[in-house]
Parts: sequence; C-alpha cells; structure tokens
Amino acid sequence: MSTPASWNNLRHWSATVDNNDLAWLHIQTEGKSVNVLTHGVMDELAIITDGLETINNLKGVALLSGKPGGFVYGADIHEFETLKTAKDVANHMELVHNLFNRIQNLDAPTCVGIDGIAVGGGLEIALPFDHLFVTASPKTKLGFPEVTLGIMPGYGGSGRAYGRVGTKTVLDMMVSGRPLGSHEAVNAGLADVVVETDKNLIPNMRDWMLNCNGVKPTRTQCESKANKEAVAEAKETYLKRARADHTPAPFEIIDHVMTYGHDAKAMSTGEVSVFPNLMIGRASKNLRRVYYLTDAVRKSARGDSRIERLHVVGAGTMGGDIAAVGAMAGLNVTLTDMNEAAIEAAISRAKKLFERRLKQADKVTAALGRLRADTDGSGAIDADLVIEAVAEKLEVKQAVFKNLETVCKDGAILATNTSAIPLEDIAGVLKSPENLIGLHFFNPVPVLPLVEVIWSKYSDQDMVSRGMQFAGRIGKMPVRCKSAPGFLVNRALLPYIFKAMEALVAGENADLIDEALVDFGMPMGPIELADQIGLDVCLDAGIVLGISPAVKALLNEKCLAGTIGRKSGSGFYEWEGNRANRPRQSQSKSVMASIAKDMLTPMIDECQRAVDQDVVDSSDSADAGMIFGIGFPAFRGGPLNWAKER
Ligand code: NAD
Repeated sequence: MSTPASWNNLRHWSATVDNNDLAWLHIQTEGKSVNVLTHGVMDELAIITDGLETINNLKGVALLSGKPGGFVYGADIHEFETLKTAKDVANHMELVHNLFNRIQNLDAPTCVGIDGIAVGGGLEIALPFDHLFVTASPKTKLGFPEVTLGIMPGYGGSGRAYGRVGTKTVLDMMVSGRPLGSHEAVNAGLADVVVETDKNLIPNMRDWMLNCNGVKPTRTQCESKANKEAVAEAKETYLKRARADHTPAPFEIIDHVMTYGHDAKAMSTGEVSVFPNLMIGRASKNLRRVYYLTDAVRKSARGDSRIERLHVVGAGTMGGDIAAVGAMAGLNVTLTDMNEAAIEAAISRAKKLFERRLKQADKVTAALGRLRADTDGSGAIDADLVIEAVAEKLEVKQAVFKNLETVCKDGAILATNTSAIPLEDIAGVLKSPENLIGLHFFNPVPVLPLVEVIWSKYSDQDMVSRGMQFAGRIGKMPVRCKSAPGFLVNRALLPYIFKAMEALVAGENADLIDEALVDFGMPMGPIELADQIGLDVCLDAGIVLGISPAVKALLNEKCLAGTIGRKSGSGFYEWEGNRANRPRQSQSKSVMASIAKDMLTPMIDECQRAVDQDVVDSSDSADAGMIFGIGFPAFRGGPLNWAKER
C-alpha cells in the first residue's frame, strides 16, 4: 500500500504508509519551536484522516512527534484570540470534535508515542488513539492545565480521559491542572505502556500494531456513573477557597463531570455547552493576559547573563536568602557580612531551604558546596556580580560600594538591593557609576518571584539587561524600573496601605476593609498586610514616599507602644504566630466592592504615573509587576487592566 498522494505536500506533518500497511504520522508544527495545534495543523490532520479512511487493509496508525524532546503543548492559544463569540468558539470545537471522533472510529488499531510534554490539546489529540505509549523520561508529562487559563479541555479530552481514569483522577487533573508523570499516567489508566526512552517508542509501537493483526482493541469505560464521593472530595479540596464569580472554571468543570459522569462520549460532546462561555468570559480573558505577560517577562530575561560567580554583601534577611537562591540555581556564591554569626545563620537557613526544595541529599550537598561563607570578603575579587544587602543607610551603602570598586574585577556588575535610596545617590560617589544597578528582591526571597531591575541615569544598559538575565537565571520574574522613589511596587503599594489607614482614622472598621479587599481577590487586605510588613517599616517608608499627618500620627503611636504588627505579636490585630486574629465579617457585595474600589484608587493612580514617568516600560510591565510582586489577582489582569475594564 502506498502513501496517499494528498499527504505529499504537508507542512506540519510527515505522514507515510510503510510496507507493513502501517501509517506513521509525525507532527512537526511549522514555524514553532514546539508542537502546538494550530488551525494549519488541524486542517492537515483532516487531510491525513481523509487518507486514512480510504486506505484499504490498513494494519495500524501511529502518531509521534517530529520534534525531539516534546510531544504537543496544546492548542495555539494565540489563535483562540481570533474567535470572538461563543458561537465562533463552539463552531471551531465542533470541527475538532468531528475530526477526533473520526480518528477514534478508524477501523485500524491506533497508537501514540509520547516523549516529553503532552498537555491540554496535546493530550486531547492523543486520547482518541487506542493505545498510548509514554517514555519514562522525567520530562514526559500528561495533563490538563486549561484551568490555569480559566478554561477546561475543549477537544473532547474530558470525556475520553474520564472513560480511562474515572471521576477522581479526571477531576484532579482538570481542576488542579497538575500533570501526571509517565508511571503515574499508566497506573491511573490514562496511558498504557511505559518504555524506557524515545528510541524504544517506534519498535514497541510497531510490534503492538502488528500483534493486533488488524483487529481494533476495544475499551470499556472504567466507571458507569460519576463517583459522588470523588465529586464531593474535589469540591472540598478545590472549591473551598475559589469563588465562582472570580474564576468560574473549576466550578464548571466539577459540574460538567457530575452531569455527564455516566457517559464518557456525552461528557466529550457536552464540552461544547460549557467551554465557549468560559473562553469568552472575563476571567479567562484576564488569565490569558497574565499568561502572555508571564511569557513576555520570561523572554525579557532570556539570554546569557555571563554571571557565574555571585558575591553577596550583607547576610541578613535579604542577603542570606539571595545568596541561597543563587546557589540553588547553580551559581558559585560567596556570602560576607561584618558579623560572622549572621553568615552562619544565613547558611544554616539556606541548608533548610535546600533540603525543602531540592530533597535529594546529593543535590543539597552540591548546593551547599556552591555557597561559601566568606568572612574576609575576598569573594568580591573574582565575582561577576556583587549584590549589596546591608543596612538601609546611604553612608553605609556608599562605603561598601567604594570599597568594592577597589577590589572587583573590570566589568563586574555592582548591584544594590536598596528599597528606597535613589541609585544616583549611591552611584554618585563611585569612579564608575555606570557599573551600579539595582536588584530589588522581595521578602521572602525564595517565595516571591518579582525582582525589580533598577537603572539609574548613569547605569550601563548592557549591565541592566544582564541583571534581567541574571534574575531569569535564578528563576525570578524581572521587571525593569527607573530609579524613582518606591520604584514600581512600593510606590503603588504603600499609598494603598496608607489609604486604608486613613479610612481607619476616619472610623472605618479594619476587618471590613480587609474583607473587602480579600473579596476583591487580594491575598490579604491592606491593614493585615501592614501588620505583616511591620508598622515601623511602613512608617519609615511613608516618611520617604509621603504620608498624611493623621496616618503618621497613628503609626507613630503604634511604634511608641511597641505594637508594630506580626513581629511584636500585635498591631492593628492581635497575632497568633503567622495568623492575624481577624473576625472576617463580610458585608453586602456592593458595600465591599465600593470599599475595594476606593482603597485601590491610589494604587491605580501610582501605577499609571509610573508608566507616564517611564519608571516602567509599559502598562503591561506595571500590571506584571503588581501581579508578581504583591499577588494582585491574576483573574483581574493587573491593576491598570482592571481600571480600564471597570
Ligand atoms: P538585615 O538587617 O536583616 O541585614 C543586614 C545585614 O547587613 C546584617 O547582617 C548586618 O550585619 C550586615 N551589614 C551591615 N553593614 C554592613 C557592612 N558595612 N558590611 C557588611 N555587612 C554589613 O537587613 P535586610 O532586611 O536584609 O535588608 C538589607 C537591604 O535590603 C536593605 O537595604 C533593605 O532596605 C533592603 N530590602 C529589605 C527588604 C525586607 O523586607 N527586609 C525587602 C527589600 C529590600
């Protein structure tokens, strides 16, 4: 049997029929570094399917990736943006459903070989095939991450996966978005066979198809109705902290499985009545925006920073953790402090972090080996980058950098972690002020992804770019900022906190303010956050950035009384360890929405000013900074996006 002529000019696929009457389909999306299901890919799959349906005596069909190391990463999300209405989305889905059903209904036995990522549409395209082979590579992952974009599987994957794995696993996959590794996938019934490496895929797939002798295997649905306990458990696990008016997808997914849990086919078809509204809804639109922002930030951090040796001066809260995160990311790090005990404490904290994050003893030992206590500060001599995180005092920082200038090698980047001192004031005393940039990390460094990469009027822009790349290298999300009071995040965050304190002074209830902002979607309200940061720190920052006399008096009073928030056990709230004792009384939706809008006004204004004054490069950068820096709710797409949408 020869290969159909219609398969000869495909751009995204290579498809052939061999001497054993086996069809081999390799997907290789043209113009993309990884395979995604573009309209072009799907159109050609329809041509291939036409061919498969007409070949007589076909003994098997095999699908593989033509791009080594990865299978298929999903639908092309950018192309989805061209579908404007729910009807457009439904029409597109119906085309794909029809195509995948035709593949599922082919007479010949069909199989897929997966090495690397098979997620979203990338898993859905595999599921209509009879038999799934996966490699044991740790990179092989099968999953449905759609919920993170506010949607759900839309190419029939929900029902097909349900048919294989049942209620509990399909809900876990779709609502958590967490992918399964190869063994997990086979144990759950999602995939059928694990082979060692990608080299083993084709021989195993060939043997399997030939052994079928042209007889298509049958598969029965693993459950005959939705498992009620599993549904209840999923609601308990995933919906407790979710809100349908914020992010409807997890609620819709659970409903969908409950509704169609008796019939896998109906579950697949039923996607068409749920998915389109999720897709065109506001939450998904904003979550997709955050996906694009994340991608843009990651791209801005791509490239070789040429930084292998990092020297950190100041082993306190920030310096100690910056050094640890650097060593964990594979850099050789020296850590110095004028106080030896601070270095020791930082290294024992780092050890705990490595144990928690790296888990395996050899990796922990290697990371510890890369982090060297440097009591005499000699690590500065051959460092490619020095980060200063000493006390927040101009004279101290100036002295540290003047000294560093005399010992560092040519071309070394000098960076300060200052929160508030203008970079020009530090750089002004240096012989080469162009070598100084800011790398403003957020506390706790191992947890918070944002790094503001600060440039002064003197800064060498190549060093600023390398600072961005360095941040990317250690797994952080950098946003470029001009040296200006509060940079982006503190400039926008503190006026919001102070606005809440002004409301307190005017007699508003702290708990109600906080509840209103939590209701809006913030991780915590502004008063609780102030207690968390420390009222002394808020006061100091307020003095630099501007603060009303009433709020200053309130904070002064609190500081004098020693009730400065979480660290003193009491502030605006009483604290039990890490938990504020807060009644969490909610009010009517409209009252809370109006409070939230009021409190957020200064934050929006400051973000806009930061854009207008070129402190950040764009409103997208401002939104990204606030999402990664303070956890501004992603489903609102960032403060400026929210203000525009209101
Ligand atoms: P910290 O008090 O915990 O640590 C500072 C360390 O610097 C101390 O161990 C001290 O012994 C050491 N030190 C002081 N002068 C020194 C010198 N001349 N040479 C060597 N070591 C010296 O302070 P931190 O909270 O880590 O803050 C450090 C810097 O980071 C400050 O500029 C601060 O504004 C900034 N920052 C802090 C936070 C935060 O939340 N803590 C967040 C962002 C930025």
